[in-house]
Amino acid sequence: MNLKPTIGMETHVELDTESKMFCSCKVVETDEPNISLCPTCLGLPGALPVPNKKAIEYIVMLSLGANCSITKEGMFHRKNYFYPDLPKNYQISQFDFPVGVEGSLEIVIEDSLHTVAIERVHMEEDTGKSIHLGSGRIDSATSTLLDFNRSGVPLVEVVTKPIISSAKMAVAYIEELRQLVIDLGISKGKLEKGNLRFDANISVAEEGSDELGVKVEIKNMNSLKSLEKAIDYEILRQTKMVQDKESIIQETRHWDENKQVTLSMRTKEGSADYRYFSDPDLPNMVINDEFIEISQNQIKETPEKKRKTLLDTGLSLSDSNYLDKGQRWLYELYLSTVKETGDCKSTFNFLTGELQGQMRKAEISELPQWLNSEKLASLINLFENNEVSFTSAKDILAKLLIEDIDPKSFASDNNLIQSSDNDEIKALVTSIINENQDIVERLENPEDKLVGYLVGQVMKSSKSKVNPGSVKEVLLKELFG
Ligand SMILES: [Zn+2]
Repeated sequence: MNLKPTIGMETHVELDTESKMFCSCKVVETDEPNISLCPTCLGLPGALPVPNKKAIEYIVMLSLGANCSITKEGMFHRKNYFYPDLPKNYQISQFDFPVGVEGSLEIVIEDSLHTVAIERVHMEEDTGKSIHLGSGRIDSATSTLLDFNRSGVPLVEVVTKPIISSAKMAVAYIEELRQLVIDLGISKGKLEKGNLRFDANISVAEEGSDELGVKVEIKNMNSLKSLEKAIDYEILRQTKMVQDKESIIQETRHWDENKQVTLSMRTKEGSADYRYFSDPDLPNMVINDEFIEISQNQIKETPEKKRKTLLDTGLSLSDSNYLDKGQRWLYELYLSTVKETGDCKSTFNFLTGELQGQMRKAEISELPQWLNSEKLASLINLFENNEVSFTSAKDILAKLLIEDIDPKSFASDNNLIQSSDNDEIKALVTSIINENQDIVERLENPEDKLVGYLVGQVMKSSKSKVNPGSVKEVLLKELFG
């Protein structure tokens, strides 16, 4: 029996607003616990919530960025459950009228484009944080501390349809979503800080069958590595169970990074367990056309748009996606440099390979302000036109990273310019042929390895001051006509 996996992703995005979702407490990034609290985010009796307008603007931007339709008359619901870090005993969320519905995100896997259908984008608030002392896990902690700084921070949940078919695809989707919230400027998008946290719903079913298998939810991951490993592990675990005719239980599991397995947490709640009802403290949410337009006008950039701009310069899809997901300065530097070189591939290779590599090595995180696209383009042109060797280009770049030099004058001042003077090359070639008659007699065809040896000899006799491409050309003409 051939089994196919189906995955749906639920992602929580922490919005980068000044204040919390339903009170005016500041959103803080600190380890000092319980410094940004009020009766509302502590869930004290009688405290009333007031929605954060900026957060609503952000969720509309995200919904539009994910190509969703906007629900113009929505509302907030209470999702009831007990947990020590949820002081109200309910979380304000949205149930049947989410802000965004029926959207899609374009994702890139290697060199092909795929589409992930988005089911809904809804607004909610974050919980506080439980810190389990001793083991870090609730089941074996010696005691638990509560920090309510995060309680009430605006969260957006983005839910896909169950149509993702591999761990790789899930990772590409999260990368795209993360870039979207960064490009929209609505979240810092830092995975290590938990700005994006994701759950994966995974099931396996017989290939060709219309029905999905029993789904298992893996909760609360915030690294792409864990996501990929957890999904791969879970697909294998479920596949083996089905093949062994064991039944899969609908449950929530977590990824254990140390043991590299998923472990059962609890049997899965259905939405009925949360006893959703509309929040009587909050009015219905009306999002009118004017508000949508204001939000739309805030959208300056999306990863999809950036990718198109990059593709238009001639880059391949995977190279475009690489720059799209990278740091902003590199994206901009590429665009301005390629305008001057007109050569997308060598510009991409030089910036992402040599430049980034040397910056990493020298531990430079920011380009010196003199190292602009004009200088880089002039350097790229020097070796692309065979005026300097690639080795010299690397040396010039190293110099450029510490000193404001002009690549071309530096190359000529330091005797790095290679000669393409045919007469000079011809003289060198002739003398090498004369000196190596034994080898010349053994040559069978232009592809012979010994041709490379002779080119090397010419380069050596010129002290690398001639261009190897031109040397080979002249040599082959002399030898084979
Ligand atoms: Zn508060």
